[in-house]
Amino acid sequence: MTVSIWQADGSQPVYETDLVVVGAGLVGCAAAFFAAQAGLHVTLTDMRDLGLGASSRNAGFMITGLDAYYHHAAERYGLPVVREIWALSRETHRLWREFIRAGGVPFHECGSLLLAESPAEARDLEQAARALAADRIDVEFLSRDPLGRGYYAALRQPWDAAVHPLKLAQAVFQASGAALIADNEVYALEQPDDETVRVHSRRYIFQARYAMLCTNAYSPQLDPYFAGKVIPTRAQCLVTAPLPNGPLLNTCGYSDYGYMYYRDTFDGRLLIGGGRKQNKLLEHDTTDDRITDPVQRVLEAYLRQRFPEVDAPIERRWAGIMGFSADGLPLVGTLPGRPRIGFAVGFHGHGLALGAATAERAVSLLLEGLHPGAVSAARFD
Ligand SMILES: Cc1cc2nc3c(=O)[nH]c(=O)nc-3n(C[C@H](O)[C@H](O)[C@H](O)COP(=O)(O)OP(=O)(O)OC[C@H]3O[C@@H](n4cnc5c(N)ncnc54)[C@H](O)[C@@H]3O)c2cc1C
Repeated sequence: MTVSIWQADGSQPVYETDLVVVGAGLVGCAAAFFAAQAGLHVTLTDMRDLGLGASSRNAGFMITGLDAYYHHAAERYGLPVVREIWALSRETHRLWREFIRAGGVPFHECGSLLLAESPAEARDLEQAARALAADRIDVEFLSRDPLGRGYYAALRQPWDAAVHPLKLAQAVFQASGAALIADNEVYALEQPDDETVRVHSRRYIFQARYAMLCTNAYSPQLDPYFAGKVIPTRAQCLVTAPLPNGPLLNTCGYSDYGYMYYRDTFDGRLLIGGGRKQNKLLEHDTTDDRITDPVQRVLEAYLRQRFPEVDAPIERRWAGIMGFSADGLPLVGTLPGRPRIGFAVGFHGHGLALGAATAERAVSLLLEGLHPGAVSAARFD
């Protein structure tokens, strides 16, 4: 991003802290928590406010694993990587649950259902179930549609859950004890020597021992290192008015290989998200979080097709920006030539699945030099 001489005339006050975390979403708050646990004075800063990026615009599904079905993920990344990421996801869910309990965050242990929209997807779900079972992961394959809505098969992951994502981000922030400076865009990052970083922002020049970028989709705008590695990708949702007969699904439903998803909200509305498959070009490489008609039409058509009994009006529609990564895995590392500036970005629409434990690895790399494993950005070197 560029900044004019009038916006940045060098007159901003210097703000001293041990670690400045750029980006106060779920991942930034988790990174702040782990760094504070290590004894650092941590300051979070955000160009908007706490959690107002993707972290408060998502569907709140805590679904274990990656976006690809297990056997497809194994073909793509190899089984050792998939096992490692699965464990990372379980650890992330364990951590979120601790924050959820401590912060009284709305949460529903409803499990998830991966549902088949076609016979081919049903076969894929069966194969995924077999691959999971071979790894002693106890899922249930259902050859009939448990919802009675015309799906071809389903895979139940009983330990998955639905959460209020913004309240979760707030709870993690509270637990971190970090300071927050909102409405403060960061536009340049420097490491002038072996001991310090300087983070230039609209309101302050942060002088710190370390910086951590948790800017997900927006990372390429902040530093060219992320160009081509993180691709901002829009995702959209709609929600109905509260349904007269209360919650409809009691699960996190996920189908068409994750292109469609649906759940009850805590006040008994039906939320539907997705609709990107038919509109990939339109939703690709943009940080503009407005809704678009073609995607909203897909979501509405889906509502009418799969949930024909719902005649409650649609009360809200929204969009958010996901940080897709070039290969589907998150990226943890430090900037080339600036080892005191770390990052945890590229959650590929799965920050609730992978965010907390990935943030922990990013902090361990930055402070202790511990290798972050399969999420290491070194794979792009
Ligand atoms: C519609 C939608 C549905 C989704 N559904 C799910 C789901 O059900 N389950 C799931 O696991 N994931 C889902 N996701 C993805 C999930 O929301 C993200 O993976 C997660 O929120 C990533 O968290 P984050 O903290 O990395 O990113 P963000 O929450 O986007 O935080 C990044 C922050 O950085 C700030 N920032 C960026 N650049 C700068 C800068 N230069 N200076 C200062 N601040 C900056 C932004 O303002 C933002 O607050 C969904 C996403 C969307 C959009």
